[in-house]
Amino acid sequence: MSCTEPRDLVQAYLDHELDLAKSLEMEQHFRECVPCSTASEEGRRLRTALNDGGLYFNAPPGLHKRIRAVTRAEARSNARPRTFRWRAITFGLPAALAAVIALSIVPLLRRPMTTDLLADEIVSGHVRSMMADHLTDVPSSDKHTVKPWFDGKLDFSPAVVDLADHGFPLVGGRLDYLGNRSVAALVYARQKHFINLFVWPSSHEETRDAPKSSRHGLNLIHWNASEMTYWAISDLNPAELGEFADLVRQRTEAIPKPG
Ligand SMILES: [Zn+2]
Repeated sequence: MSCTEPRDLVQAYLDHELDLAKSLEMEQHFRECVPCSTASEEGRRLRTALNDGGLYFNAPPGLHKRIRAVTRAEARSNARPRTFRWRAITFGLPAALAAVIALSIVPLLRRPMTTDLLADEIVSGHVRSMMADHLTDVPSSDKHTVKPWFDGKLDFSPAVVDLADHGFPLVGGRLDYLGNRSVAALVYARQKHFINLFVWPSSHEETRDAPKSSRHGLNLIHWNASEMTYWAISDLNPAELGEFADLVRQRTEAIPKPG
């Protein structure tokens, strides 16, 4: 089984829509293929997260009043002649429903991603960059080539540091999309291992727990510094990835801030 079919069928598989033979074939493939099993695991986790009570929101304080006001207006119009009542039903009620739906969905969309879901996205970003022959958009070991490449492509300018003297040569840079925004991906190497360093401006809602974690055989380190969020991820061992993160932290802090 190539990866095309599992990728097309993963949602159907998670919905138990496939027949037994196909399901078993998929499971066999997931045992042998890390990217596909990661994709399936992510789908499963997303389902669990969507069923989680954490996504339940209390209605904003004024909502009850506003619905009462709309329904009172509705009741008043019911006392009027039939044509008015019809208008109230066709225009008033859908508007009230739309308002309720909008008020309940907007906070959901604005809600910052949890660190756990974000870490899953970081893993996907890393796996994607390894499998799709798309590790770098700007392949270069020169920070003076990589840093200006991001100009105009992002609404911030990532600090790019040279760590070749510590055995972490820069490989290049790439645009990526994580946590509902465009981010810079800086790629470094350690012998045969690649490190993705994802960088974007930190928002205040972002949590700081679980700075170090590992999932799917990959190690992750997360920190915030100088109003930026950093995620380093690699199949490199935790000690060397920690060394890498410490170096990035020291060198980026040593860069004078513009202005
Ligand atoms: Zn596969």
